[in-house]
Amino acid sequence: MGGRQVTSWQGMHITVAGLGVSGVSAARALAGLGASVTVVDGGDSEALREKAAALESSTEGVRVRLGDGDTLPEGTDLIVTSPGWKPTSPLFAAAAEAGVDVVGDVEIAWRLRGRDGREAAAWLAVTGTNGKTTTTQMLASILRAAGLRTVAVGNIGTPIIDIVLGGEPYDVLAVELSSYQLHWAPSLRAHSAAVLNLAPDHLDWHGSMEAYAADKGRIYEGNRVACVYNAADKATEDLVREADVEEGCRAIGFTLGTPGPSQLGVVEGILVDRAFVENRQKNAQELAEVADVNPPAPHNIANALAAAALARAFGVPPKAVRDGLRAFRPDAHRIEHVADVDGVAYVDDSKATNTHAAEASLAAYESIVWIAGGLAKGATFDELVSKSAKRLRGVVLIGADRALIREALARHAPEVPVVDLERTDTGAMLAAVREAKRLAAAGDTVLLAPACASMDMFTNYNKRGDAFAEAVSELASADG
Ligand code: ADP
Repeated sequence: MGGRQVTSWQGMHITVAGLGVSGVSAARALAGLGASVTVVDGGDSEALREKAAALESSTEGVRVRLGDGDTLPEGTDLIVTSPGWKPTSPLFAAAAEAGVDVVGDVEIAWRLRGRDGREAAAWLAVTGTNGKTTTTQMLASILRAAGLRTVAVGNIGTPIIDIVLGGEPYDVLAVELSSYQLHWAPSLRAHSAAVLNLAPDHLDWHGSMEAYAADKGRIYEGNRVACVYNAADKATEDLVREADVEEGCRAIGFTLGTPGPSQLGVVEGILVDRAFVENRQKNAQELAEVADVNPPAPHNIANALAAAALARAFGVPPKAVRDGLRAFRPDAHRIEHVADVDGVAYVDDSKATNTHAAEASLAAYESIVWIAGGLAKGATFDELVSKSAKRLRGVVLIGADRALIREALARHAPEVPVVDLERTDTGAMLAAVREAKRLAAAGDTVLLAPACASMDMFTNYNKRGDAFAEAVSELASADG
């Protein structure tokens, strides 16, 4: 990918791939700058047609082509893709043949920043297989506590192009980046960036673990102040070593143990900084207490340390780290306690959409009835099941790829009772919770941590978590 820096959009012919949230945002912004935009989408449903008509009539310079996402529109100078489109899509093969660059919304946002003549806000960037949203929101909370004007953006909230062009003056952006967005953002250069962890995920999209890791590693390219890595995850440190950074940029580790020089870590229940202090061989700075982190589960303390490292790299004082962590509240469906029924806790971690996340949440409870299954996205379950087997009271399986989990259970936890629901309809969640309730004893936790994506049965993980909470409340009231 050439990554040609475009300074004038006037008269450019841009093809936007995908009529989703980021596609519409890109189309509007680029047409507004004088480009001639064609949005292409392979779908052709009633809903898409309505959306297309609304976009075309409200925005001059945009036309939409539905029912064909594969052929390259004549005269295209640049493709702006939505994150979900695979690199192997025929449209991109056609683009490569024609010598046309393909970039994503983050790349466009990066090229557009500072257009209004003001100094562009610095980007503090976060990626990783799990914990991105949480860490990015913690970071924004810390920056806000320091009195900085900021917003959590990227793979969350308002499309990043809209933030960059929105006219609101920000001092710094807390930017969550998915591996897809990084893949399509060749010229992005963050002030500082963190890779939280690296485990197999989305391999069907990236093609291999190496390709996935390489895309994550792009986040460090050109960093100016700090590359933050997870000292417990060597793969993240390797990515720092491979990155081409600005002179003077430092590698900063975070650890749940005692930190070495140039690390942040934990000492006797205190989060401490041995990186951004005078004389780091001898000194450490107290930042916050473990109890200031919501919830104080081990994986979340790691997230807090990563957020603190990025904030400290930006010059935020220690007190703001503590205040920001205290003010932070996690989003729904992330290890969310839904109800207690007959002495059994029901916990919604619908956001655990891969095995690594599910492993973190299974590690937080002693005796679990686990509800799992959905779309596996190319994952295998042997490691997750063998590590978690001793905590499992029982398992209820739902969703398209449940056989993969059932087979792993047969191999590594043959004594654990498994109910295979053989259903993917919307009523399946109520049946699953009913079965889980039957398997659970007082003191147990019924944990929805599917280790899979939700789209075989639900619109998204939010809907899956809502269905779980509704099922729990239905069973609770049927009892009462
Ligand atoms: P992402 O934005 O990367 O998907 P989230 O912050 O939304 O991450 O958290 C998703 C899920 O991943 C959580 O529900 C939790 O189960 C798990 N998780 C969060 N942080 C970590 C971490 N540091 N390591 C492993 N798992 C984590």
